[in-house]
Amino acid sequence: MAKAPSAKTPGLETSIQTLGAAKIPSPLRYGRYVGQDETLELRLTEEEADVSAGPGVPFKFEKAGPRGAMYFDSSKVKCAIVTCGGLCPGINDVIRAIVMDAHHNYNVASVIGIRYGLQGFIPKYGHDIIELTPKNVSNFHVFGGTELGSSRGPQAPDEIVDALERMNVNVLFMIGGDGTMKAAANIVREIQARKSRISVIGIPKTIDNDINFVGRSFGFDTAVEKATEAIACAHVEAVGAFNGIGVVKLMGRESGFIAAQATLALKEVNFVLVPESPFALDGPGGLLDQLEHRLSTRHHAVIVVAEGAGQHLCEASGRTDASGNPVLCDISSLLIARIKEHFKARAMEATIKFIDPSYIIRSVPANANDRVYCGFLGQNAVHAAMSGRTGMVVSRLQSRFVHVPLELVTMKRKKLNTASDYWRAVLESTGQEEMPQQG
Ligand code: ATP
Ligand code: MG
Repeated sequence: MAKAPSAKTPGLETSIQTLGAAKIPSPLRYGRYVGQDETLELRLTEEEADVSAGPGVPFKFEKAGPRGAMYFDSSKVKCAIVTCGGLCPGINDVIRAIVMDAHHNYNVASVIGIRYGLQGFIPKYGHDIIELTPKNVSNFHVFGGTELGSSRGPQAPDEIVDALERMNVNVLFMIGGDGTMKAAANIVREIQARKSRISVIGIPKTIDNDINFVGRSFGFDTAVEKATEAIACAHVEAVGAFNGIGVVKLMGRESGFIAAQATLALKEVNFVLVPESPFALDGPGGLLDQLEHRLSTRHHAVIVVAEGAGQHLCEASGRTDASGNPVLCDISSLLIARIKEHFKARAMEATIKFIDPSYIIRSVPANANDRVYCGFLGQNAVHAAMSGRTGMVVSRLQSRFVHVPLELVTMKRKKLNTASDYWRAVLESTGQEEMPQQG
């Protein structure tokens, strides 16, 4: 039997750092505590982690939940929350859950909200801070987006830690994507270099579901639900015209999970294009050839394209956004232009209707499932912080909440495995043939 990765396996360390010994009795009223070092052994699938050690290798993760002994004397603790990167349904629910749990269960002295991402720490931007109380966060979940505001772009870790020290913050909760988790790791290193005692807890946010060691990220369920509405509309448009083609662009810069899952949810999709499967447009068996065949026989088609699909078909601009993420080429415009060209050259009638629901999907409030999930994430983040843990994220893997070191979740991006049964099921539900894998 394969052994759980040892502490020596490079990059696969699963033990969690602490600020020091936990000696203070927990103020929680429930008395159902998780053992101080209680772990869970999980065999992860490829949909949960891109594990270099190989799928099925058991990992020992620390179990999330309240501990009987605290590092912090919680009634003296000041917490801060920051949200970074793009929007995703559920961010406000996580903020709300942290504030409610910190105040009601741990009776903390204060929770402050840092405005506009990491910028909020840096004096030159002049952003205010918000005192977050149970009263003023009570309606946060009604709205999508982030009530704290967000931003991209790097800020120096030493200036961030200066700000935390100036404000006497003991615990920092960072809600954000892969970039934010890397920034969190840098902040932890700076705190350690100063021998400071500030806990940093990450709550991974990615609408694309592409964070390693996070089974399914919060907001993903809502995103898929919204995406299926757009696909249903595209289908109506497609059948409403002779040789109608509905094209829906969905999120998924490097991983096509939303496109794949929405395709499984709504079997109207005939072609699904994801970053993990570089497809040919031209030639026998290419997208245009398959689309022509579909129109000749059925006279309508729906194409779902993830924003990061087909990047090999266009020239890289070389541009990056403020956080250094590559600016992708607009694959949907290229597809539409090439489809029009193709059918014009064959004197075939074809009507294309294009729907891009991305900003609607990102900004809606979370659905019930995601709300429940966000509530657990917020509560477990507070439990972890009060017990003195740091340099970790709260994650749900196989329906269990666990602690995962920041280094593990930022190791690499999680991607769809196109050799998996899951992807086969996606292709099976579209009727799309495997396409040649070159441009
Ligand atoms: P999203 O999923 O929306 O992309 P994200 O957290 O990855 O979320 P980014 O804009 O990439 O969003 O990063 C958020 C913050 O983290 C930014 O302020 C950015 O400068 C910082 N950051 C990004 N990448 C890194 C990195 N490699 N090292 C340190 N900080 C980073
Ligand atoms: Mg990112």
